[in-house]
Amino acid sequence: MRYLIISDIHSNLAAFEAVLADAGSFDKVWCLGDMVGYGPDPNECVEQLRDLPHICVAGNHDWATLGKLDTEDFNPNAKRACLWTRKQLSPSNLEYLEALPKSLIEEDFTLVHGSPRHPIWEYILNSSIAQANFEHFDTRFCFVGHTHVPVIYRDNPNQACDTLTPSLNDPLVLGEDRLIINPGSVGQPRDGDPRASYAILDSDELTLEYRRISYPIEITQARMAEKDLPVRLIIRLAYGW
Ligand code: ZN
Repeated sequence: MRYLIISDIHSNLAAFEAVLADAGSFDKVWCLGDMVGYGPDPNECVEQLRDLPHICVAGNHDWATLGKLDTEDFNPNAKRACLWTRKQLSPSNLEYLEALPKSLIEEDFTLVHGSPRHPIWEYILNSSIAQANFEHFDTRFCFVGHTHVPVIYRDNPNQACDTLTPSLNDPLVLGEDRLIINPGSVGQPRDGDPRASYAILDSDELTLEYRRISYPIEITQARMAEKDLPVRLIIRLAYGW
């Protein structure tokens, strides 16, 4: 099976469409949460995903939009975007987000938004947090999102785990090692590269390919300005942070 691995679309339809156009054929989408929040097209993004064969877990912005997580923990811009999103979503899309599970297991992969230890809110920001998380899932591999930074952590039970920076367009053979894998963010990359980030998993060959694709950032920015979303959120898209 060929899976499209995506995370943190954050209502950025132009970025999501660019990823779908670039990905080629796939059997199913595995989405790691935060469909909404920050961007201008929450309904369109949820509906685009719902039209595809897919599975999806819940992210902190999805929960905050639903009122399942307190927006007081968000910075003021994220909170404003979240409250705006809540008003936009159709009843059917709210119901869809409401039903998303916190974690899923498919083949030898666990899927969560934040971390296997705390699926909704924990950020795996470094190797020591990653190492502590390896004992919180039973499959060989775990996909996470949430930090918006593409990275792979390799389990190393005797010391701090290894941090691997994935190379692009070069399928990585997943060997015997246990890995925590972050595909980066479709709609709001934060690693200094503004292009949409995603990955393709071939579960027969057991290979994972990281990809980046440019998208018309100015379209998303213009739509955000139209909706009066926070300027800081509009500007950051161009810089990938
Ligand atoms: Zn996010």
